Amino acid sequence: MSLEGGCLCGAVRYRIEEDSPPCYACHCTECQTHSGSAFVLQMPVFANKFIIEGKVVTADQDLPNGRVSTIHCCATCLVRLFAKVTGREGLVTVRAGTLDNSKTLTPVAHIWVRSKQEWLEIPDGHRVFEKMPSEADWFEILDTKNRLEAG
Ligand SMILES: [Zn+2]
Ligand SMILES: [Zn+2]
Repeated sequence: MSLEGGCLCGAVRYRIEEDSPPCYACHCTECQTHSGSAFVLQMPVFANKFIIEGKVVTADQDLPNGRVSTIHCCATCLVRLFAKVTGREGLVTVRAGTLDNSKTLTPVAHIWVRSKQEWLEIPDGHRVFEKMPSEADWFEILDTKNRLEAG
């Protein structure tokens, strides 16, 4: 099984060769500004399981932690599709809302909840982090060990 997605105009399509990688909701103010919306659904996937077709344009964004995020957008309609971050080589962070079946997604965690919009109530049972999770929490949230073992 794999997941597919793409931009609005159809010029860029991608495929993720994993069954159902976890996604999380980021409520930070940068994501709000980037998306012009309340939060962003992010799905980090292994770069060697991410196949993309079509022309993209990129822009570099400095992150508060000193890392640089290179965002990748469709060259035609400029929909932002994914990002690659320095220090996280081997991972591609996909904007999960660009998946064809994005309505079936449930985030495994909500991060930077201290800046979430006040009207938004997070469902019971969802993991919540006031700010950025620790590296150990990331490892657990993203089920990294089991996914690496699954090859
Ligand atoms: Zn497009
Ligand atoms: Zn964010």
